[in-house]
Amino acid sequence: SDIPYFAEGEVVSGFGRGSKELGIPTANFPESVIRQLPSSFECGVYYGWAKLSSYPQVFKMTMCVGWNPYYHNTVKTMETHIIHKFDSDFYGDIMKIIVLGFMRPMCDYPSLDALKKAIHNDIDVASKHLDTEESLQFKDDPFFMLVH
Ligand code: ADP
Ligand code: MG
Repeated sequence: SDIPYFAEGEVVSGFGRGSKELGIPTANFPESVIRQLPSSFECGVYYGWAKLSSYPQVFKMTMCVGWNPYYHNTVKTMETHIIHKFDSDFYGDIMKIIVLGFMRPMCDYPSLDALKKAIHNDIDVASKHLDTEESLQFKDDPFFMLVH
């Protein structure tokens, strides 16, 4: 299995699909990081840990893997929602993630309301998974402590 999966890269701007307007901003990695994602990662929602270069803590996260319409669905997307309320954006930060598990297929929903409900449910489910001993052992993984 490719899980746990470790990835690291700069937070770049996405396609501004209005995630922030939904109250669920998603931090994007550059193409170089996405290209390394094994093809075994099917589209859908995952959970794991995330660390930003300008914050000391390790945060819970959910990550959506999808197809990028900009590249005619030949390139994937990895969009990470950090389960934390930030006072400002962190574009340019180096983000490190450890993906620990798959929660459900698909990132999109027909209605905005269905989407919002699904995302909030994902956050609850992810949070519970991440409170387990099995997940917590990765929260202080040396990967997060190494300075690039
Ligand atoms: P974009 O299309 O540029 O990805 P979003 O609306 O998805 O725009 O917002 C993502 C940006 O919001 C991130 O790059 C980050 O700088 C900021 N941000 C603020 N809070 C969060 C959060 N909790 N999780 C992820 N990104 C966040
Ligand atoms: Mg985004």
